[in-house]
Amino acid sequence: MEEISLYRKYRPHNFDNLVGQDHIKTTLINALRNRNVSHAYLFTGPRGTGKTSTARLIAKGLNCTELHDDHEPCNKCEFCTDINDGRLIDLIEIDAASNRGIDEVRDLKEKINFAPSRSKYKVYIIDEAHMMTKEAFNALLKTLEEPPSHAYFVLATTEIHKIPETIISRCQRFDFKRIGIKTLMTRLSYICQKENIQAADTALEVISKYVDGGLRDAIGLVEQLTTDHTLSLEHVQEILGVSDHSLLTALFNSLVNNDTKDALGIIHDLHGQGSDLKQFVHEFIEMLRQNLLDTIANDQPKTTSQLIRMISLFQDAQQKLESTIPQLALEIAVIQITGAFEEYEPEIVADKPEQDKADSESEPKKKPDNPSVNEVLEVTLNSIRDHWPRIMERIKTPSLKISLRNAIPQKVKDHDLTLTFNTNFHRDKVVEHDHRVELEEVIKTFFNTPVKIVTEVKALEIKPIIEEKVVHETAGNLDDMAELFGGEIVD
Ligand SMILES: [Zn+2]
Repeated sequence: MEEISLYRKYRPHNFDNLVGQDHIKTTLINALRNRNVSHAYLFTGPRGTGKTSTARLIAKGLNCTELHDDHEPCNKCEFCTDINDGRLIDLIEIDAASNRGIDEVRDLKEKINFAPSRSKYKVYIIDEAHMMTKEAFNALLKTLEEPPSHAYFVLATTEIHKIPETIISRCQRFDFKRIGIKTLMTRLSYICQKENIQAADTALEVISKYVDGGLRDAIGLVEQLTTDHTLSLEHVQEILGVSDHSLLTALFNSLVNNDTKDALGIIHDLHGQGSDLKQFVHEFIEMLRQNLLDTIANDQPKTTSQLIRMISLFQDAQQKLESTIPQLALEIAVIQITGAFEEYEPEIVADKPEQDKADSESEPKKKPDNPSVNEVLEVTLNSIRDHWPRIMERIKTPSLKISLRNAIPQKVKDHDLTLTFNTNFHRDKVVEHDHRVELEEVIKTFFNTPVKIVTEVKALEIKPIIEEKVVHETAGNLDDMAELFGGEIVD
């Protein structure tokens, strides 16, 4: 393999090669064609999705002397080649996370007014922009208010919530998406062909799934895992510690068939092989999620309900993997799903009716026709947790819904349901008279018996993370909660 890293070699040198960000591409191409490029862009999105590369495309688009089709850089003129080689003095790339970056932003205010030395326009790319200090943001803000006509800015960040509103409002914002698995595979396959690497499609698929939408990481892995111009599935699986897909399918099948022994056998084998159980559970939940989306697309409410339950139980297990017997959490999940506990755990007999219920889910009004179903459904912590996503769905008042997403059903005793909150704010919302009545009513429709809501505020494990974050980031925190219950936030 050549000395230059594969990523540098294959980073998009023109808009045509920019993959997975079509919405951004179209807007920028139009801006270049109409000579209407904004003086300040803010690029946000996960790492390795093309933010800096796109910023350089803007710099080339502005300065190239031989633009093709009014937007595509030629990659041949002095400005294009200098930008590609990273030595155009008028393209100033600042890493805001570094010490030097802090100085550079400080200097920016004075230097910005100097005309570009060689090219037509100066382009500033500020990477990791969220790392700028308050002083740096203030300095930048002044510049963004009245940028000289020869200066353009691109701010790139993975953490948009750390960028002050005043800065955001002065930029044109683009949200870079995670790149889809198929798009990643196509690009990797192209690179392997060009580089004469014999790559198994399955190996490229595993890499594409592993990187969570980042092309840079994907190309890096191809480079790292290729030996003797070969990229094999076995090697990729071994190094990444990802699971054999057949085991995922086998576990799924045994759960669907309620084959407890078989499912436990698979967990046993995984542990015996020294597999990374965390990674396995992660992939298994991802597989369940895909199946779930499929069943929703195909309108199969019964299967959907089964899958939601599986996801919920495996997410519980995921939280408990750190215990001294890591496979135990998985074993319990498997036993709960296959129903092998029913003989000695009468409390959760309610599971069967739940499936019947799910059938009528699309027509909830029909349910009272079948009161016997509701009668069997006991109010237990498990049944409340199992039904939590559906309970949430039926809450009508938006503010109550939001606050409930911050609640964890903690205990059920004598028809008192204790909800734990991590802040007084959300607890107070839920205990407001009308809200409490609404929630109790909804729960009653599921269990056919009155339930009283009791609340408590307690420091949850995730609290430290939440406390550090700013207020408008609560959305992420909701996701955490929803994830904890295998639910999805339904807006
Ligand atoms: Zn050019």
